[in-house]
Amino acid sequence: MDCYQSAMLGIIDSHVHMGSVAEEQAMLGIAAATGIEAMALVSIQNAEAGAGLPQSLYMKARHPGRFFVFAGLNHAARLSGGRVQTPSLAAQADAFDAMGCDGIKMIEGKPTSRRRLNVPVTDAYYAEYWARVEERGTPVIWHVNDPEEFWDPARTPGWAKQRDWGYGPRDVRKEALYAEVDAVLALHPALKIIFAHFYFLSADLPRAQRFLDEHPTVCFDLAPGIEMLYNLSRTPDASREFFVQYADRIVFGTDLASSMSVAEGRARAGIVFRWLESADTFRVPRTADFLLGPPEDGVIRGMALPTDALGKIYRKNFTRIAGPMPRTLDATKAVDECNRIAAIAAALSGKPAAVTEAAKVARMLETSGW
Ligand SMILES: [Zn+2]
Repeated sequence: MDCYQSAMLGIIDSHVHMGSVAEEQAMLGIAAATGIEAMALVSIQNAEAGAGLPQSLYMKARHPGRFFVFAGLNHAARLSGGRVQTPSLAAQADAFDAMGCDGIKMIEGKPTSRRRLNVPVTDAYYAEYWARVEERGTPVIWHVNDPEEFWDPARTPGWAKQRDWGYGPRDVRKEALYAEVDAVLALHPALKIIFAHFYFLSADLPRAQRFLDEHPTVCFDLAPGIEMLYNLSRTPDASREFFVQYADRIVFGTDLASSMSVAEGRARAGIVFRWLESADTFRVPRTADFLLGPPEDGVIRGMALPTDALGKIYRKNFTRIAGPMPRTLDATKAVDECNRIAAIAAALSGKPAAVTEAAKVARMLETSGW
């Protein structure tokens, strides 16, 4: 990896998942091994477990300047039919902003999330939230959709099936999800959204181009979805041209996770570096994590992008959207938020609040005096 320019460009990874606080050293080890300078922790909330966001707040507090936090929404009130109280989505966005989060992560738009919370993003439930986020200019990293092959049992990869990411007639359709996004963007054209995984349009570059042209405030991230690399490697010249032309609209990301080994982390980030920077033809290495599938699945063709495009993709586009540095966490507000998340989890699950990751983080933030 050292032969690539990435190490010199002060790279920011816009799409990283933090597991429990017990994985703090593992996360730092992956950052060191990959040469990634700062990471955006995309923090989907698990309302029942009281986890997802607290551990990211912990990393932000412990390592100033290293971790941006994109906070996920808590849907406990809606999921429990009103039995459990939570602030409105707009009030949650206000609280995230006030405590020093850098943006919002949404997974509402992945078909599996839709199975749990069957509320379209065009529903009145989201109306005030969208207005608030647009008005404040809050960046949103949003996972909408999945690769088209997940709707076709014959083409769904084994690693996806094992995660229950194979969809059938009972699931929301891919085009319905795109239509909902179009409706949200028509009402709120200033939303600053980074669509994760290239918005799952890597098999249709003309459509990706139209979408970016129609919505000048949105970007795509490059977190694999390994199908993105395979799709774009089928037409390497057109892909390179697209990346040069839209270098202002593409944001580096890996989907690294603190649960990975250093070898897996290096393999995952290394695939993306090599694809962007080299002219190599290569395959996923055997050391790569399960979600990248086996080497036999496909061939990747490097795009050998020019240095100025790499600089935009690796760092400048992200800092233009989220700011040059991670914001400072207000520890008192973060403790309050963690305690609230812990109480919601206890009310939903019946388990004691004290055993949640949220309560653990609240105690750590309280006693450390950050
Ligand atoms: Zn992810």
